[in-house]
Amino acid sequence: MQAPLQGLMQHWPLLCTKVIDHAAIHHGRREVISRSVEGPIHRTDYASVRARALRLAKRLEREGIGAGDRVATMAWNTWRHLEAWYGIVGIGAIYHTLNPRLFPDQIAWIMNDAEDRLIFVDLTFLPILEKIAPSVPSLTKVVVLTDAAHMPETSLPGAVAYEAWLAEADEDFRWVDIDETAAAGLCYTSGTTGNPKGVLYSHRSNVLHSFIAIAPDAMNLSSMSRAMPVVPLFHANGWGIAFSCPMVGAAMVMPGPKMDGASIHELLSTERVTFTAAVPTVWLMLLDHLDRTGADLPDLKRVVIGGAACPRVVTKAFEERFGVEVVHAWGMTETSPLGTLNVQKPETADLKGEALLDHKQAQGQAPFGVEMRITDDENRDLPWDGQTFGRLKVRGPHVAAGYYGGKGTEVFDEEGWFDTGDVAHIDANGTMRITDRAKDVIKSGGEWISSIDLENLAVGHPDVAEAAVIGVAHPRWDERPLLVVVPKDGKAPTREALLAFLDGKIAKWWMPDDVAFVDELPHTATGKIQKLELRRQFKDYRLPTA
Ligand code: AMP
Repeated sequence: MQAPLQGLMQHWPLLCTKVIDHAAIHHGRREVISRSVEGPIHRTDYASVRARALRLAKRLEREGIGAGDRVATMAWNTWRHLEAWYGIVGIGAIYHTLNPRLFPDQIAWIMNDAEDRLIFVDLTFLPILEKIAPSVPSLTKVVVLTDAAHMPETSLPGAVAYEAWLAEADEDFRWVDIDETAAAGLCYTSGTTGNPKGVLYSHRSNVLHSFIAIAPDAMNLSSMSRAMPVVPLFHANGWGIAFSCPMVGAAMVMPGPKMDGASIHELLSTERVTFTAAVPTVWLMLLDHLDRTGADLPDLKRVVIGGAACPRVVTKAFEERFGVEVVHAWGMTETSPLGTLNVQKPETADLKGEALLDHKQAQGQAPFGVEMRITDDENRDLPWDGQTFGRLKVRGPHVAAGYYGGKGTEVFDEEGWFDTGDVAHIDANGTMRITDRAKDVIKSGGEWISSIDLENLAVGHPDVAEAAVIGVAHPRWDERPLLVVVPKDGKAPTREALLAFLDGKIAKWWMPDDVAFVDELPHTATGKIQKLELRRQFKDYRLPTA
């Protein structure tokens, strides 16, 4: 066969640093606003973020950090965290976000697995780091993200205040020249089964992911946007927002350590935020605040909700009461994280009221760059009929090809498909709907019942604060659903009232066999219900029907 003729276009490497360069040159004065950990609102812009990132890169080099080194961050969303990411990748090192909500032992395990050499840590998390640092031998330097005036006493040897440390270098520095396939970021999965596994993003995957994220059928970001990433930078690559906003010159508003309803609302209104993104729990807190205060959301246009299924009541409140468009999205740490987004399409543009809310329960369509399929356990494709559930598999240029250190190879196949561990159905328009995690789906008499669907309905009851559905052993049906409910403060819904509330909304055989009431549900560090732990708590539970 004749050799193909090569194109004659430039190889312009897709590097994360090019994003901040562009922002500084073309949107240099665009604001980056943060609620600082010290308290006051801090204002800067992309030109300054880049200048300080250059300084940070130079200072890191002087510290002996170089290409391929892992540099940890345990920090809230602030301008300092943002400039740290860019400075780290600017010398070819790797930002490694740590989730401070994990147990200290788990954080230490992750830091040792990654062999982090230096850490940027917020004041809030110093006590955690003091506990774990002695068991992380690779860690040689601690930089506390504050100034000298706020630097506390600490038992950490050689800890320095960020501002003083940064001032020891100037910004006369050039980003190192590296390949676009070099690693840029590292984020560990929540590890609901076994030890957490590291997902290693490349410069290229981050830049391509941003191109996808900014598009109208995704986050729809532009230089006119004022975007507030409430989702922490330490969750799933911060949903890529640290790259998408500077790529288009969108202003950034970062909530720092305060993510309660009142604090979020304060920033949304004073900073005239038009776009925001976070997990459903954050929005439940905000909506509760709005209910209690009667406050409004005059500037907000679009909210991306993902990380867990978005409850119908949240979509309804945003869209019908506040006129804010909800984009329900699905993704994973392994997918950078955007996988699918539910945005308006001609096929569904006429939907209104309850039909529209039904549609918005789905996690949406794959943007260009994400290929998906559903299969049975033998890897045979299942039809896209909107009913048949199967294992959801994805591949694309911002989907992981493996885990750090070669772990967990069983979820990647030779054709590049990554088995997400989610169960989903897809309709003829390509709209995907997650029905469960593969290990949480309830298997009743050979058929599957979606715990997510039942949970979403149950939290729609006015007396329910939170709900989880698990499969409990049943002699005849194998498993039957048990609804576990946390009532709202001061409310005492009955089993009968809750089951009556579900009646007519689901197939008869999906009806939970029983309802249990608890004070709280176990959660993972990323705020998801820990079904494994819940199943353990209810392992001796006997259903009345058994
Ligand atoms: P993580 O890697 O911690 O972000 O977790 C990814 C997992 O969160 C996915 O595999 C899903 O099980 C779940 N998830 C993410 N987004 C959604 C969503 N919109 N609806 C239901 N589950 C979701």
